[in-house]
Amino acid sequence: MSARHSGTGMTSQRTRMRMIERLRTQGIADEVVLSVMSSIPRHVFIEEALSSRAYDDIALPINFGQTISSPWIVARMSELLRANLKLRKVLEIGTGCGYQTAVLAQLAYEVYSLERIGPLLTRTRIRLQQLQIKNVHLKHADGMFGLSEAGPFDGIIMTAVTAEIPMLLLEQLEVGGRMVFPKGSRKQNLCIIERNSQGYMETVLEEVKFVPILSGVVRK
Ligand code: SAH
Repeated sequence: MSARHSGTGMTSQRTRMRMIERLRTQGIADEVVLSVMSSIPRHVFIEEALSSRAYDDIALPINFGQTISSPWIVARMSELLRANLKLRKVLEIGTGCGYQTAVLAQLAYEVYSLERIGPLLTRTRIRLQQLQIKNVHLKHADGMFGLSEAGPFDGIIMTAVTAEIPMLLLEQLEVGGRMVFPKGSRKQNLCIIERNSQGYMETVLEEVKFVPILSGVVRK
């Protein structure tokens, strides 16, 4: 195993545990999420030049103008998605470097994740294979159409921001299921939409900052 994967210095288990402690003091209360995040080497999802900052509570660039979400955002969205739900099938829109995907893979039986930038997805595919994560299905596609052939999902998570969620996507949510996503444009908030037998219920939460959802796919 290379030093990069075994985790030395700034990328060690100790650094990771400091991140977990910080998340706890910042209000993340779901111990299952914290335990999963303590087991995943976040530094392998980030370019080597930046990996010493992998456990800082910041978003970092991952090429193609995209960013890996900060540890707090990943923890917060994961706990919101999980709360009171037994996650069987989860859909993620915006795979990026795959860190959130790897966290979800330990919280749900099956994860489907869609990414519009082909070359980004190619790297993420290799990374998840190296980490021997087997319950994730990655697809190069525009996530705003969802993945009806694999649905319905009991959880949907979106890691880029949009002003409106298309009905097409909400229809892929199981009754009793929940979608967690950032909403807005200049001012953005985390939102939850829950589907019940009567329809959909939206809850608006804290202010956040995400890169925008874009349409269509990028091949090279
Ligand atoms: N969870 C990722 C977040 C990456 S940033 C991580 O932590 O690495 C948001 C991602 O959403 C980017 O990779 C971007 O390319 C992707 N994205 C934006 N619009 C999309 C769309 N319509 N369909 C699929 N992915 C999209």
